[in-house]
Amino acid sequence: MATLESKVSAVVGDRTAKVLNTVFGISTVGDLVRHYPRRYMVRGELSDISQLREGDETTILAQIYSTTNRPLRGRKGSILEVVVTDGTDKLSLTFFNQAWREKDLKVGRQGLFAGKVGVFNNKKQLAHPDYELIPDGSDVDSAVEGFAGKFLPVYPASSKLPSWKISQCAQLAIGALDEIEDFLPESIRERHAYPTLQQALVQLHQPADLDHAENARERLTFDEAFLLQALLVIRRNQLKKLNSTSRKRITGGLLDAFDKSLPFELTAGQIAVCKEIESDLAQPHPMHRLLQGEVGSGKTIVALRAMLAVVDSGGQAALLAPTEVLAAQHLRTIEKQLGTLAQGGMLGGSDKGTQVTLITGSQSAQARREALAKAADGTAGIVIGTHALLGESVVFKDLGLIVVDEQHRFGVEQRDALKEKAVLPPHLLVMTATPIPRTVAMTVFGDLDVSTLRELPLGRQPITTHVVPVKEKPNYMERAWTRIREEVAQGHQAYVVAPRITADPDAGADADLDFLFGEESDEISSVEELAPMLHAGPLQGLKIAILHGRLSADEKDATMQAFSKGEIDVLVSTTVIEVGVDVPNATIMVIMDADRFGVSQLHQLRGRVGRGTSPGLCLLVSHCEELTPARERLNAVAATVDGFELSRIDLEQRREGDVLGASQSGTQSHLRLLRVLRDESLIELAREDADQLIATDNDLTNYPLLKKELAQLQRDQAVDYLDKG
Ligand code: ADP
Ligand code: MG
Repeated sequence: MATLESKVSAVVGDRTAKVLNTVFGISTVGDLVRHYPRRYMVRGELSDISQLREGDETTILAQIYSTTNRPLRGRKGSILEVVVTDGTDKLSLTFFNQAWREKDLKVGRQGLFAGKVGVFNNKKQLAHPDYELIPDGSDVDSAVEGFAGKFLPVYPASSKLPSWKISQCAQLAIGALDEIEDFLPESIRERHAYPTLQQALVQLHQPADLDHAENARERLTFDEAFLLQALLVIRRNQLKKLNSTSRKRITGGLLDAFDKSLPFELTAGQIAVCKEIESDLAQPHPMHRLLQGEVGSGKTIVALRAMLAVVDSGGQAALLAPTEVLAAQHLRTIEKQLGTLAQGGMLGGSDKGTQVTLITGSQSAQARREALAKAADGTAGIVIGTHALLGESVVFKDLGLIVVDEQHRFGVEQRDALKEKAVLPPHLLVMTATPIPRTVAMTVFGDLDVSTLRELPLGRQPITTHVVPVKEKPNYMERAWTRIREEVAQGHQAYVVAPRITADPDAGADADLDFLFGEESDEISSVEELAPMLHAGPLQGLKIAILHGRLSADEKDATMQAFSKGEIDVLVSTTVIEVGVDVPNATIMVIMDADRFGVSQLHQLRGRVGRGTSPGLCLLVSHCEELTPARERLNAVAATVDGFELSRIDLEQRREGDVLGASQSGTQSHLRLLRVLRDESLIELAREDADQLIATDNDLTNYPLLKKELAQLQRDQAVDYLDKG
């Protein structure tokens, strides 16, 4: 007998055990029974060869009459033709490139053969049938009973280990297994009418019928979702137990003064989220909150209010931004929004005020020294920066809150590096640039509480998006440039976005898009070609500037500032403007070779226009033909401004690993069946069950098996994480 922990060699021969290990990394019986079938083949009922009709799923009992293996005409490879007979008629079986089967399929042997009847050269045949040869002298009847009309699992296989061989191994393992204890609490199992773990494994590898197999698969998929969610719920509870400095809201402070000076009303959504954050901050435990929201929904102001509340209580806040452009912009907008409140301790500053400072990798030594000093002595209540904030020389007087903007670019390790700089675990607010479906958020950020901003501020103008198909309608391009001229004539500004910096395809772009498009082409627009072309041609006379990742930080900053001030009409740029850039006077964006960008990225990009009081227009220029997948993607972007819907479309085209992101490498390897998008409702159920269970039994004292399973999962994740790190 064997347990899930037994070595596979306990149930299969040493040679096979070795192959299982080298090909699939299977080393225990547990690994083997969790090498799940991909699908099932249904074998037909036993029939006579003479009765077969084309298209039948059939099984026949027959004797091998002849075998011939011959090379294919005109191309590489060979075909093995095996003719069998059952006394009523003859039938040919064909195998491509499987000459090795000849040594099994010897003339005179009896066997069962299953497959779908096809016709070739007017002869009935079975191509690549499943078969089982009946050992000489064994009982034909029981062999027939065991073979015909059954569901045959099809496994992920290799040439060294074909599916039928894996099936044999799995059967051996299933047969040898002792009783397995089920870690899933019975109440949960019964609620969903799931089989026990043991039944599920048996039904998956030897299904009585497809319904049983399906139910078994669902149970095992649920297990993955449940374990993951349980782990996240526990982790979240543990984080909540940590001690932190409570940052209770005070009246008459910086935050109140700021609220009074706000030139607009907060949206209902913003108010609700601010309340959630306020109550989190008042706790003596660290907040762990994810703020996700539609592009332009006003996340920054929500974060700023949280930072001010912390400053009011005597602490400091750090704002971590993914790029220097964005960090510099945050500094500018926050200083502008705070006005005199950002001049604490300075002549003319408010007595309630504080200071805001910036720490980036490229700033001058002098600027850096000043910023470091202000962070260290607490003069700066708000410290904004890029990765440079994580550096050892950065010290805070009392870091109370970390805000991470555009989280998907930072890993958990980086969050942690910043947390180290606080006396007690600080409060954490993570903002995502791209709205993501709830279940993805639950899986990727499951240890965070989630706040969502769906609505856009009142008076926000709609963005209209059109595809400009230059192949079919070459004159539309001219029209696009005219639209820019019209907008500029009305005092507005424009973006022109190109995928590349220079024409040289080896010089690289700001974003790595190869995962979507493979081969590079020479005809891709570049900033450095486009700007002079527009300057000399269709946009002659307009003030045009360029922006891309290879300009120095000072150049980038100067250009962005000039654009914000309206000194530039048209900014020709790469995707450096993708996240967060906020210039409300910009109303039109032309995206060249838009098919080179991902769906969410296009949504982010176009979110740069229509931020003020005038409607936005986004033109997606593409050379792709109608009805191609690339064009369909662009049509989808043009058809909706719902970022949640678009991110789903985007995610559906990625591999599971890309959906979960790099920081989740430890999680991925445990998801054999679960797919975050496909299995949404299952994940929701699992989350509810996990929440409920853990609420009644914090330490899972009554569920030792579940506790053990979770500990194992946690260890594996940590190991995977280190491996990949
Ligand atoms: P995102 O959520 O994409 O980061 P931002 O925080 O950059 O969006 O906000 C977009 C713009 O909307 C900014 O110019 C901001 O000042 C403005 N804004 C934010 N909240 C409101 C509001 N309640 N009413 C009007 N404008 C707002
Ligand atoms: Mg933003």
